[in-house]
Amino acid sequence: MKREPEEQEARPAPLAADLHKWYAANHRVLPWRGITDAYRIWISEIVLQQTRVAQGFEYYNRFISRFPDVRSLAAADDDEVMKLWQGLGYYSRARNLLTAARQVVERFGGEFPTTYEGIRSLQGIGDYTAAAIASFAYGLPHAVVDGNVYRVLSRVYGIDTPIDTTEGKKLFAALADELLDRCDPGGYNQALMEFGALHCVPRSPRCGECIFAGRCVALATRRVEELPVKQGRTVVKPRYFNYFYVCRGSDTWIRRREGRDIWRNLYELPLIETTEEQPLELLQQGEAWNELFRGAGRVSVSSQVYGCKHILSHRVIHARFYVVEPADTPAMPGYVKIPVERLGDYAVSRLTEGFLEQLAENYPSLF
Ligand code: SF4
Repeated sequence: MKREPEEQEARPAPLAADLHKWYAANHRVLPWRGITDAYRIWISEIVLQQTRVAQGFEYYNRFISRFPDVRSLAAADDDEVMKLWQGLGYYSRARNLLTAARQVVERFGGEFPTTYEGIRSLQGIGDYTAAAIASFAYGLPHAVVDGNVYRVLSRVYGIDTPIDTTEGKKLFAALADELLDRCDPGGYNQALMEFGALHCVPRSPRCGECIFAGRCVALATRRVEELPVKQGRTVVKPRYFNYFYVCRGSDTWIRRREGRDIWRNLYELPLIETTEEQPLELLQQGEAWNELFRGAGRVSVSSQVYGCKHILSHRVIHARFYVVEPADTPAMPGYVKIPVERLGDYAVSRLTEGFLEQLAENYPSLF
């Protein structure tokens, strides 16, 4: 959305003309582009966080056709939203979407807020998303700063302040704001991000045919591959999950994950988490096993039927899955018994989904 001339401020926007021209010739056509519906823009931005466009595309379309507006999302069943999100990861996004949709209904009468502050006040919406919605939907002069913007600006201006420090964040936010095209903030923001996503890419950017080649400091000083600079490394913590697909007649057991941990609100099979890898024999001697399988009588346990290393942003899950067939009904405290045929109705992590697919393929009789 472009702003009216009387609203415009007379500030130069040094990159704008080249970026707009480049965008007109090169941008991808996507369903959330060129629209001013704040709700749809919001959904697209949340879906695309940490997700490739090709994958996000499918989820966005599914989400919008099921929940076409903020009121329908606010009225949704939590489990249904989690199920629609299944496979996309970073499930806090889905939980926040629901909370924010309900906030829009409760605090804004069901109308998506039209100010930056109003948008920013919603659950799960940070500076970047608020600026994107405010500028794309309402033409408000807020600069977006995402990974693409950090990369382009750090290279064009040759800035080596680490982007993951407070100082770096402040510096880039101020620079992005200074460079913003106040005549067309939404179009400019889209163009800058698209340029970073398609042209000034992390590896092997196309400097030879670049609109900024004549003024790019990184290119002139041969620092393209070094920029942007990041200071910290994420500490990745290993976790050891031993899952049990418990099958008795046509029943199995699951529970909903609660608390402040990964996969909150997703469902999972009976789990014993250990501090290091443990063989099945050792697990069967432990207290957690006794609690789960109290009253189960004789149990037959398959050897591990599925195992993998599942990588999340801050965790590596070393997972093992076993099939357990007890003679009697086990205690399973905290888990609910459901018919096996209903398992597909519950949202599960990508890890568990992988196991269930494998099981259906190799052990169809267990379904
Ligand atoms: S010259 Fe290279 S590094 Fe500089 S903006 Fe263009 S593509 Fe990016």
